[in-house]
Amino acid sequence: MARYNGAVCRKCRREGMKLFLKGTRCDTPKCGFERREMPPGQQQFRRGKMTDYAIHLREKQKVKNYYGVLESQFRRYFGRAERAKGNTGEVLMSLLERRLDNVVARLGFGLSRSQARQIVAHGHITVNNRRVDVPSFLTRPGDVIRVKDRPKSAGIVQACLAESRHDVPDFLARVDGPPLEGHVVRFPEIADVSVPVQAQLIVELCSK
Ligand code: SF4
Repeated sequence: MARYNGAVCRKCRREGMKLFLKGTRCDTPKCGFERREMPPGQQQFRRGKMTDYAIHLREKQKVKNYYGVLESQFRRYFGRAERAKGNTGEVLMSLLERRLDNVVARLGFGLSRSQARQIVAHGHITVNNRRVDVPSFLTRPGDVIRVKDRPKSAGIVQACLAESRHDVPDFLARVDGPPLEGHVVRFPEIADVSVPVQAQLIVELCSK
């Protein structure tokens, strides 16, 4: 599946906030955003007040960058959220938060979403005792996300847990084992997202 392979710190600088895309480095003075808060690019002095469209677009781009999804995949999530009952923006954020790579990262089994994505894709994770190597797999309440019972898998995840400095959100529960596992307690809500998101702006943009 296609994914962005370019520089990631520029994404935080573009959005004007830390999106925590690089694991432990994000909590150190080496953080690219802390060192240079200005937007990326060479012509910053020419940038003026953002248009209404730009404000909406930046909100969408922020969410895409945060979860590491590209436009076509994001549109599919949006279409699904539109068809579901309830507030479209809240359903959209809940869908993104339920992704297996996000859940693995938020449990502390990976230091960033991209590392969690790799951990999942390399087969180190099972869901309800079945190997799942699809990072976009949608978890649901009752699911048990377990690190495979083999030294290599446990070693990788233990190293991440030792360095992880972020709390496990309320919709998940971690059991420090052995075996190392996490439980999905309930569906995530927009309040569980660790960056501020104005989902309504995304809905207004994508509904046009
Ligand atoms: Fe963003 Fe992390 Fe880079 Fe800082 S170190 S700019 S939080 S990705």
